[in-house]
Amino acid sequence: MIGYYKADPWSIVEEGFDPAMQEASESIFSLGNGRMGQRANFEEHYSGETLQGTYLAGVYYPDKTRVGWWKNGYPEYFAKVLNAPNWIGIDIEIDGEQLDLNRFKPVEFRRELNMQQGYLERTFAIYVGTGRLEIASRRFLSMRRDEIGAIRYAIRSVDFSGEISFAPYIDGNVVNQDSNYDELFWEMESSKAVAGSAYLMAHTRKTGFVSCMTMCYTLELNGEALQLEPEVIQKEDYVSNRVRLKLDQGEEAILYKFVSVLTSINHKPEEMVSSGINLLIEAMSMGFDALFEEHIAVWEENWAHSDIIIEGDTSAQQGIRFNIFQLNQTYTGKDERLNIGPKGFTGEKYGGSTYWDTEAYMIPFYLSTAKEKVARNLLVYRYKHLEKAIENAEKLGFTDGAALYPMVTMNGEECHNEWEITFEEIHRNGAIAFAIYNYVRYTGDRKYLASNGLEVLVAISRFWRQRVNWSYEKGKYVMLGVTGPNEYENNVNNNWYTNKMASWTLSYTRAELEHLKNEDPAAFDLLAGKTGLKLEEESKAWKDIVEKLHFPYEEKLQVFLQQDGFMDKEQVMAADLDPAERPINQHWSWDRILRSCFIKQADVLQGIYVFEDQFDRETIERNFDFYETRTVHESSLSPCVHSILANRIGRSEKAYEMYLRTSRIDLDDYNNEVNEGLHITSMGGTWMSVVYGFGGMMVKDELLSFEPHLPASWEALSFKVLYRGRTLNVHLEKKKVTITNLAGIGLDLYLADTRVHLEEAGSVFAEFTGQNPGS
Ligand code: BGC
Repeated sequence: MIGYYKADPWSIVEEGFDPAMQEASESIFSLGNGRMGQRANFEEHYSGETLQGTYLAGVYYPDKTRVGWWKNGYPEYFAKVLNAPNWIGIDIEIDGEQLDLNRFKPVEFRRELNMQQGYLERTFAIYVGTGRLEIASRRFLSMRRDEIGAIRYAIRSVDFSGEISFAPYIDGNVVNQDSNYDELFWEMESSKAVAGSAYLMAHTRKTGFVSCMTMCYTLELNGEALQLEPEVIQKEDYVSNRVRLKLDQGEEAILYKFVSVLTSINHKPEEMVSSGINLLIEAMSMGFDALFEEHIAVWEENWAHSDIIIEGDTSAQQGIRFNIFQLNQTYTGKDERLNIGPKGFTGEKYGGSTYWDTEAYMIPFYLSTAKEKVARNLLVYRYKHLEKAIENAEKLGFTDGAALYPMVTMNGEECHNEWEITFEEIHRNGAIAFAIYNYVRYTGDRKYLASNGLEVLVAISRFWRQRVNWSYEKGKYVMLGVTGPNEYENNVNNNWYTNKMASWTLSYTRAELEHLKNEDPAAFDLLAGKTGLKLEEESKAWKDIVEKLHFPYEEKLQVFLQQDGFMDKEQVMAADLDPAERPINQHWSWDRILRSCFIKQADVLQGIYVFEDQFDRETIERNFDFYETRTVHESSLSPCVHSILANRIGRSEKAYEMYLRTSRIDLDDYNNEVNEGLHITSMGGTWMSVVYGFGGMMVKDELLSFEPHLPASWEALSFKVLYRGRTLNVHLEKKKVTITNLAGIGLDLYLADTRVHLEEAGSVFAEFTGQNPGS
């Protein structure tokens, strides 16, 4: 579907209505505000193919596990983000006939996601007999008041004369497509419709989350407020008002619908109706335009910190802004109980739960584009789940405070139930440990280690210690039966990446414990008491593992080997695959995939990216060449890592190809699945591929460092990063890179390998002749 959405630097635009694209567009045009989110379902009834999706952050259902063959240690349930009651609905009748774009064929259909101001707009015309009606709807989920949504729905008659009716509603009769036993997840609690407003309160079965949605509306005819006596519609799971009016040629009727959406995550159930009404009264008295103004002011602030400007390539510009927009509307960092599901608020897949994606791909974005608290809250989320991670490890037989964080979770409990992932894809523990280090090195907030971080690190280190065993044959420690990030092979021994993460965690934990003991003995004693730490004994055992852990290596080619035995596989190249058989996960049997050498996503290369400063360029090159040729990138989390490494070794074309693939994975639907929702977590990877890849940013010896590379087809690239109280602007042109300190005191940094001082409000630059900087 390359080219289906029009290229535009600030908007995603669809022109013409193609019902076959409806579900894809519902994903692409999704809106959210961190507290709730909404697929781009139509306000009016639609009888064609659609995936209805209204999501409330943190509200989930524990869908009873369904597996063919139960294994001890499986969780009881899979937590699922819920399709919540529909609050966007406005049923329209034209001369008594329900408006349904599956039957009325719309003309001049246009849908726009305006990313600069965060709204969704739809315009189209229909003919009723010979009469033409033009319809325009605009909606937004307020970023300022994250429990408010507003819709402006306008119908203008060009030459139609007849009756129009609007029926704004809230509908609790909703289902999840993804439900193991076709259960209804919601149970109605109470509802009421009166003239002018209505509410619907429901709770989730089993988990008992309560949601209360309250709506009111105003009407205008030709710009004048209109008071009409509505028909009040009240059913148990559906509340509405229907207003009818006569529309003549040249006239325009507009309905403004305001909704408050509250959940028991932040409100006492008994106060929700009155709080919801109060919020609504405030919103309605401000009116649509004023609410919209304060909403776009938040977007202005967001863009001021997080925008990336690419000159000379509209498609790349649109791609990166789309990613940044989605990231900012998925997670705002206000609430440490919330996290980011791989599909954010755009679909049901992956259950909306937390994966290692957050630590590996999202934290870098929020670290550099938002206040420190935002990334910190993501760490605190895991800190608060530590007890559950210890329980989870205990269920699998680990002891003494070892923690295994879940592969998938909502509340700290594991809810993934494929043994090869649940029990074996343990590298997630490494990502969680590394994120602590990443946060501390970027922000300098070392206090976090003493207050929270070290407790997590100790528990994860204990896990690694128990997870390895001594191999007499190898005279080394080994880690058996794991799945690396490459899920196209399971139950492997000594996955290089996992071993690397484990060994690094042990070293880091030891070093930081020593540091704390020397610098702040009281804090150390507190931590030791809390964790029952026996420093000498534990640290010695960890050191021994670090020194003697086995890392598979291929001597002839001099590459790190993904796992023991990888070279026994038939070595074929991804480029030689029949394009008709790709993606292989949609064409091959699982058996064939498991036996092949094809790699789903960066695995060894993920480790090289994480620990880049440990490897010289030749080592990176050798490994890149070996693994890139065998990688099919069937996980959206893959191309970004390849793009970053390709930049490091001067492979500009490859870097650019991989960048396009990551930044437009949804807009161009590379993996043929955008209808299910967007790849929200890989969007953090896209940001990394620009800032870490083309911008060449990293933290070196506690200083920010930039080694930029500008893709040949771009005229210029600019991005901002927040760093320890400063706002820096990095501007890259063909032959020059300039870094400006927009806010904050001066600092030292590395620019193209030279240490420079950047004054408060000052700039530093480096010029390049010939090739792109850094390449
Ligand atoms: C990837 C995992 C990832 C998950 C959720 C899978 O396809 O292989 O690494 O955590 O998707 O994004």
